[in-house]
Amino acid sequence: MSARQAGRSSATAPYRAADAFDLERIRADFPILRQQVHGKPLVYLDNAASSQMPQPVIDRLVHYQSAQHANIHRGVHTLSALATAEYEAARCKLQKFLNAAEAREVIFTSGTTDAINLVMHGYGRKFIRAGDEIILTTLEHHANIVPWQMLAEETGAKIRVVPMMDTGELCLDSYEKLFNARTRIVGVTHVSNALGSINPVKLMIALAHAHGVPVLVDGAQAVPHMPVDVQDLDCDFYAFSGHKLCGPTGIGVLYGKAKWLESMQPFKGGGDMILSVSFERTVYNTIPQKFEAGTPPIAAAIGLGAAVDYLSTIGLAAIARHEHELLQHATERLRALPGVRLVGTARHKAAVLSFVLDGVHPHDVGTLLDQEGIAVRTGHHCAQPVMTRLNLAATVRASFAFYNSHAEVDALVAGVRAVQEVFA
Ligand code: PLP
Repeated sequence: MSARQAGRSSATAPYRAADAFDLERIRADFPILRQQVHGKPLVYLDNAASSQMPQPVIDRLVHYQSAQHANIHRGVHTLSALATAEYEAARCKLQKFLNAAEAREVIFTSGTTDAINLVMHGYGRKFIRAGDEIILTTLEHHANIVPWQMLAEETGAKIRVVPMMDTGELCLDSYEKLFNARTRIVGVTHVSNALGSINPVKLMIALAHAHGVPVLVDGAQAVPHMPVDVQDLDCDFYAFSGHKLCGPTGIGVLYGKAKWLESMQPFKGGGDMILSVSFERTVYNTIPQKFEAGTPPIAAAIGLGAAVDYLSTIGLAAIARHEHELLQHATERLRALPGVRLVGTARHKAAVLSFVLDGVHPHDVGTLLDQEGIAVRTGHHCAQPVMTRLNLAATVRASFAFYNSHAEVDALVAGVRAVQEVFA
């Protein structure tokens, strides 16, 4: 039985570490993969946009909603204490997942975008003034561009951009030259969502720190694909979304070093983020509550905790290995097709394959592949500066997860050939 067919079988128990990367067992944990689309088995290759959820995470959400739900932090009753304990336990799971020094350095947000906006408001509005400089890179997702542009407009700060080579790698020589006495923060994506390039963030952080500048890493496309250790990276902030990590939508994380989080101003005001309120004066809560105003997405945070448990059971190193093989296989097979041009050929890449076909608009490719049950993304991938740099309006993007198989890559290649025949 092929791995692709195996995905539609059902397993009796969820994946265990002892299963040693058994793809069949892993796929059986994802009920959505058993679906047909247009009468064909679903081949889900849009994981960079959002990943799918395994049964243990779905079960955890159902259990929370059916047996544990109450509002947290405020109640003296049993259910409230239970929900609070589960929510805080999820924070500890995320701390361990990232190897953060302390649980209070993990702030639950609604996603990467929200986390970056938190840094912009909390750090940027406090420490960045007219004439100060913010370093970003050509490879950023709009989520790590637009908030900083809003701040620049408000304060008169300047944005400096690290250029990119044709391969999709950043020009590190130019990066170093961008620093000066007015540089206040660096924002860099760990992995490009449009091209899959893995940026040398550890090196970039060390260089920024040599200039006394903190670094925000957008980890939305990195945490699902490789082990991330925020202490080893020594990043000041690290942002990501739960829905790209086999967790629910509406939840994300901002990791921040305690020294920064403590010195920053709150982003949102309201309940839970205060110690006392009077009309004369409000005293803010300590971190992490200072940044979690109002009722947080309790169920989603607990679901994200279950998702990182699930991923950790499989092991991020094993996930990275499998995805690397998929990427290599897909790269070799697509590169061999006449009329296909791969976009983004960095030496270090993760799980993303962008390409264009001669004479066929990417949207037509996506629409025709969908008819074959193959889900890919087409467009500018919320990374228009990358597209502009490469003189492209759009690409087709296949993005892999650990539950994808070589047979699915072959299905993609066959689908691309079929599209070429339609337009021949
Ligand atoms: N940063 C990167 C690199 C992304 O790929 C994405 C989403 O695709 C985001 C930020 C925004 O994530 P969200 O929409 O979950 O906030």
